[in-house]
Amino acid sequence: MLNTHSSHEITYPEPAIVWKECLKNIKDNVTLMTFNTWFLPIKPVEIDNKILKVQLPSQFFWEWIDEHFNTLITKTIRQVLGPDAKLAYIINEDPDNSPPLVSKPVTAKRVEKPKQNVFESRLNIRYTFDNFIKGEGNQLARAAALAISDNPGGTSFNPLFVYGGVGLGKTHLIQAAGNKIINENPDKKVIYLSSDTFTVDFVESIQSNKVSEFSNFYRSMDVLIIDDIQFLIGKEKTQDLFFHIFNTLHQSRKQIILSSDKPPKDLRGLDERLISRFQWGLSADIQPPELETRIAILKRKSNDYGMKVSSEILEYIASNITSNIRELEGCLIKLLANASLNSVEIDFDLVKRIVKEIATDRKFNITVESITKVVCSYLNIAENKIRDKTRKKEIVLARQIAMYLSKELTKSSLKSIGLQFGGRDHSTVIHACSSIEEAIYKDPSMKDLVKAIKVQVELVSL
Ligand code: ADP
Ligand code: MG
Repeated sequence: MLNTHSSHEITYPEPAIVWKECLKNIKDNVTLMTFNTWFLPIKPVEIDNKILKVQLPSQFFWEWIDEHFNTLITKTIRQVLGPDAKLAYIINEDPDNSPPLVSKPVTAKRVEKPKQNVFESRLNIRYTFDNFIKGEGNQLARAAALAISDNPGGTSFNPLFVYGGVGLGKTHLIQAAGNKIINENPDKKVIYLSSDTFTVDFVESIQSNKVSEFSNFYRSMDVLIIDDIQFLIGKEKTQDLFFHIFNTLHQSRKQIILSSDKPPKDLRGLDERLISRFQWGLSADIQPPELETRIAILKRKSNDYGMKVSSEILEYIASNITSNIRELEGCLIKLLANASLNSVEIDFDLVKRIVKEIATDRKFNITVESITKVVCSYLNIAENKIRDKTRKKEIVLARQIAMYLSKELTKSSLKSIGLQFGGRDHSTVIHACSSIEEAIYKDPSMKDLVKAIKVQVELVSL
């Protein structure tokens, strides 16, 4: 144990020395790969009352360490610092201590009060332009986000409305814009939140009689970033308040950045006045990445995670996991975890097994019910309607798409699919499938729609 006592008062040794001692012990108890992957990136920060605070690179890291090495860590720290010693984790959210993620040097002002600023803005500094890989699918959205970051409120891209399927980088991109703006203009008030959080906070402000404070707070922002704006659908009071905030900000040339799973015109159920305002600026979509972009993303991420993976393996993953970036990331993490916990090399056998596992998990979780949910939410239709007898055009379409995808993506028989749509006959299912197949063949926008819904179904089933 390190000596933590001096003659009069308790003093503690340097955190770096303590951590070094701990590492010596940990190294004897884990494989070299595990040690390099999970322990070397940990940085000692300070010691406070027998608690050694260490910094971890990400939330994922923390979860992993906590789940897998808790006992080893507790034992080790006690050996080094004494019986009631503990390790406390902080996630690296301080940009000044992080690896150079931002392109511009940190200004003096930023150094003075970076934490408050980052906290208030609710931005995650992990999301930057630097680590956002450019590809055909995100070219326009990325260029527009960069342009408004250089001149917030001063371009015609106001609002900037970024839309696209799940896991394609919307949150990353709009937060990257917020981070760049704050880094370059530390005085600007930038706030990021999802429309869900906005709604919850609004409801709370009603309950505590603080609606005008709530509203004034948002009206005083220089940059307002709201993620997943589609969740405002059906929340009329919140929409109304947001409408007024939007107007105030827009009139005073403050930048508004929004994201959604679909373009403004398809946000059925949202106040028309909002839809038309969303179209004032620029709407830019993000499409699923091409093979080359997927490979580039995997290269960058595997590098960030400190993994050594051959190009052939990365190409294999990129060719087999095609629908979205979150899943690509998930695959790398699974690989890293498997290799490091079982102390095996990342080779083709392991990769093939994991890619297969991901595909199986996806298929296994998809049910007629999950498909129906996604289709209804995507097309803004109440779920019970799809099982009704109605012949209304948009409901028939939703029902046919849901039946088509049920046949494509689940193992359910035609009979069982029919039954789950309000007790319809299997011939109705066959008819639905052929109608949709024909529509996809004839109409490119239908092809896109069905593809987008399919991607969402796969994602919610992960
Ligand atoms: P969305 O908000 O569209 O559902 P996210 O922004 O959460 O998607 O992206 C999912 C994950 O993929 C995030 O970890 C994000 O950092 C990563 N990602 C998305 N697009 C890119 C890109 N172009 N380059 C690098 N990483 C990306
Ligand atoms: Mg998102």
